[in-house]
Amino acid sequence: MSPLQARVNFRPWPYAPRPFDDEAFGSWFGRVASRYQVTVEMAWEINGLGPLPALTSVGWILFAPLDESALDKLAALARIDAATIASIQTPDSWMVARRRLPFCFRCLVINPVDVSTPYWKRAWLNPSIIECCEHGAQLETAPSSVLRRAGNMQQLISSVGRYRRDAVKRRFRRGR
Ligand SMILES: [Zn+2]
Repeated sequence: MSPLQARVNFRPWPYAPRPFDDEAFGSWFGRVASRYQVTVEMAWEINGLGPLPALTSVGWILFAPLDESALDKLAALARIDAATIASIQTPDSWMVARRRLPFCFRCLVINPVDVSTPYWKRAWLNPSIIECCEHGAQLETAPSSVLRRAGNMQQLISSVGRYRRDAVKRRFRRGR
């Protein structure tokens, strides 16, 4: 499908958040799903984007790179340049199974551009990342089960927050 055909066939969403420059594609699409109060899977299906691509153990936050046709459809739906959506794709080489995913909690909850919009950075999906490039601190991690179970970005942020609070309690109970 050409970009023009996509524009003809797909009526744009009434509201579409713009991706942040360093955002992961799964995070952006997860925010779209949150906005419409559906899961990422539902948002994918409802919009005729075809079968959900094969994902790893951590679920949609590590979203498989899209083909050109899906990029054009999404660009038309969100009224965003296909090149912008292409720029936040997950590299193929990052699509490997993980038991946990790293993240920086400060970066996650404090978005300097828009404090009301937490998002997942694309860099955190890089299997070789060690520390936060913003804060220099070692990254925390969340288990795949917590990430995989979240339906959309809003749920993912609150699940990660809950997991973190519980982890603090567990440390206290163990006495360290
Ligand atoms: Zn950080």
